Amino acid sequence: MNVIFFGPPAAGKGTQAKIIQQQYGLQQLSTGDMLREEIAAGTELGKKAKHLMDQGKLVPDKVVIDMIAKRLDSPECAKGVIFDGFPRTVAQAEALDALLAERGKKIDIVMELDVDQDKIIERMKKRAAEEGRSDDNVEALKIRLQQYNDYSAKVLPYYRAQGAVPKINGNKPVEGVTAQITDILAGKVSAPLQVSSGA
Ligand code: AMP
Repeated sequence: MNVIFFGPPAAGKGTQAKIIQQQYGLQQLSTGDMLREEIAAGTELGKKAKHLMDQGKLVPDKVVIDMIAKRLDSPECAKGVIFDGFPRTVAQAEALDALLAERGKKIDIVMELDVDQDKIIERMKKRAAEEGRSDDNVEALKIRLQQYNDYSAKVLPYYRAQGAVPKINGNKPVEGVTAQITDILAGKVSAPLQVSSGA
């Protein structure tokens, strides 16, 4: 099963992906985490990406598509993948569909984590204190939210054209969000909890 967790920065996608990875054996693939690993390892790619990431801007599509392509055939992805923070543009979504199709696979579920703006700012500040990410500051977050609205929000209509995109209430505490996700994954919710209302 291949799942996409879609939502704005600091919505809780990574937190939920890690929990679902444990429970379902699906592999979390976070392009943000992969880029931070490149930065930590001091690679050329990491150096180029850091400049954009610190400003809250997206890195080029090709960079993240290549990173995902490299990981898809690894054994830990055999049971399926939770895509976290990818795709963020329509070009990335199209490339992902093509990569999966080449492997006889597809995206099975796209879930939208819906979180209020004040909650996003609150979570970003909490994460800044805990993890010290260099893009977790109010200035960069502003740009990240803008990039989300300019590019990433356009990815939702792309997937809605392929089927319903259930909306998860991401304002709830962690367990409450997980419960909504597991109900959908377990097929307990035959119809999506709340279908997003078109583009
Ligand atoms: P994240 O950890 O998902 O919040 O990503 C942190 C930053 O990494 C983003 O603000 C972008 O600069 C970059 N990034 C992560 N994933 C992508 C992606 N799919 N496309 C473009 N840039 C990305």
